[in-house]
Amino acid sequence: MKAMVWYGKKDIKINDMPEPSPGPEQVKVKIKVCGICGSDLHEYNHGPVLIPHNFIYMPERKEKYVVLGHEFSAEVVETGSKGTRFKTGDRVTAYAHIFCGNCYYCKKGQHNLCHSLGNIGLSTDGGFAEYSIVNEKSLYHLPDTVNDDMGAFTEPLAVAIRAVKRSGMKIGDTVAVVGAGPIGQLVMMVCLASGADNVFVIEPMKTRRKIAEKNGASFVVDPGKSDPGKVIAELTSGLRADVSIDCVGNQSAFETAVKVTGKRGRICIVGISVKPFKVMFNRLLAQEKEITFSNGYEDEFSTAISMLSNKKVYIENLISARINLKDIVKKGFKPLTEDPEKNIKILVYPFAPPIKHHQEKQ
Ligand SMILES: [Zn+2]
Ligand SMILES: [Zn+2]
Repeated sequence: MKAMVWYGKKDIKINDMPEPSPGPEQVKVKIKVCGICGSDLHEYNHGPVLIPHNFIYMPERKEKYVVLGHEFSAEVVETGSKGTRFKTGDRVTAYAHIFCGNCYYCKKGQHNLCHSLGNIGLSTDGGFAEYSIVNEKSLYHLPDTVNDDMGAFTEPLAVAIRAVKRSGMKIGDTVAVVGAGPIGQLVMMVCLASGADNVFVIEPMKTRRKIAEKNGASFVVDPGKSDPGKVIAELTSGLRADVSIDCVGNQSAFETAVKVTGKRGRICIVGISVKPFKVMFNRLLAQEKEITFSNGYEDEFSTAISMLSNKKVYIENLISARINLKDIVKKGFKPLTEDPEKNIKILVYPFAPPIKHHQEKQ
């Protein structure tokens, strides 16, 4: 089968690999579509970032390589001997955290805190391939109302839902979302669907602001043109946002998230930074602000699937391109890295992309 294999920074190849077979409690799936995530870009440009140094989940692997991809929808083609919940032809998506199931946190259902937390497409081979192997316990059925493209958004949407939960957003709150990449856009839609009164979006790139507007943002702010703190103060009679969600994860985004929240505001950070931040201590203390973090997801997959199914979240505006697996570097990783103004989410099809909608209509 064809698979995209990561060997190191900027070292990615489309290889022919033997088709994998499932263990007793595993399922072999045919990948229909797999989205390129910001974390895949980090691995391509700077990796290994989250790819573990020791492959505890693939102990038999002598050399260090891995098939990336963790945002996919797929079809079951073979079930393991002890499989009970799935049959050939079932449409599925995968919970991408890999967890032991036995540690203190796993026992409480807090899988994202597992002592041996891993991830599909980082710690084990993922979805940028024709076929993949997934533990049965990680699979979720996709209903007919969630097509394959929508299914590929389940995982990032689960990240967004968890971030909104962790932010403590309440019905009627004013929210500021910092960064309108894929997660920021999904966070914004989840806030709107969950009863936020106003959702302001702060984003320097024009096309991303436009998409946020299309997706229902109450107001978009260009931080290159005006001070987001002042703009949001003006829009809220000086009170600013009750909650801000930082979907970027760098010093200036964090400062913006602090500035746009009002007194006793809550700041939730979901964007990942490898560098430490300076913290504006006085502003945080004097205004009794709270900072919290959100990492991945625990049990948000079912909610994500139902939000996609009942159209609380629209994904079509987020898809910049649909490409073949063989073009993943040239038409996927490179444009996403070099031209984020034009590209937001690119979907990869191991078995050729479907014909585009505007062509279908002709
Ligand atoms: Zn992801
Ligand atoms: Zn565990």
